[in-house]
Amino acid sequence: MNLILFGPPAAGKGTQAKRLVETRKMVQLSTGDMLRAAIASGSELGKRVSGIMERGDLVSDEIVIELIEARLPEAEAAGGAIFDGFPRTLAQAEALDAMLAYRGSRIDQVIRLKVDDEQLMKRIAGRFAESGRPDDNPESFKVRLDAYNTQTAPLLPYYQDQGKLTQVDGMGSVDTVAVAIDKALG
Ligand code: AMP
Repeated sequence: MNLILFGPPAAGKGTQAKRLVETRKMVQLSTGDMLRAAIASGSELGKRVSGIMERGDLVSDEIVIELIEARLPEAEAAGGAIFDGFPRTLAQAEALDAMLAYRGSRIDQVIRLKVDDEQLMKRIAGRFAESGRPDDNPESFKVRLDAYNTQTAPLLPYYQDQGKLTQVDGMGSVDTVAVAIDKALG
């Protein structure tokens, strides 16, 4: 089973993905985590993306598609992937469909965590102080939210039309949202 956790920055995608890794033994594929690891390792890729990420802009489709493609065999061996923070553009979504189809697989479900902007700003204000992420600051967060609204949210009809989209209220506590996700997954 391949699942996309979909939602704006600070919606709780990473937290919920980690829980599903524990409970369902799936593999979490977070392009944000992969890119941060590239930066931490001091690789060429890390050097190319660090400024872009710090501003809050999206890195190129090519880069993230390649990162995901390299991890698909591992996810397949585990019985499925939780895509967290990918896809973020229509080109990424189409590439993901093509890569999975090539492997005889598909996206089974897309769970959208719905959190309103006011709540996101509240959550992120708490994170600015403690996360240590250079893109957790008011200016970058605004850019990240704009990128979500203009480039990523338009994917919702793409998955809705395929009958794969389930909306989950992401405003509650971590546990409440976890229960709602489990219910959606059946
Ligand atoms: P995240 O940890 O998912 O919030 O991602 C942090 C940052 O990494 C984003 O603001 C982007 O700069 C970059 N990034 C992560 N995933 C993607 C993606 N699928 N497409 C483009 N940029 C991404």
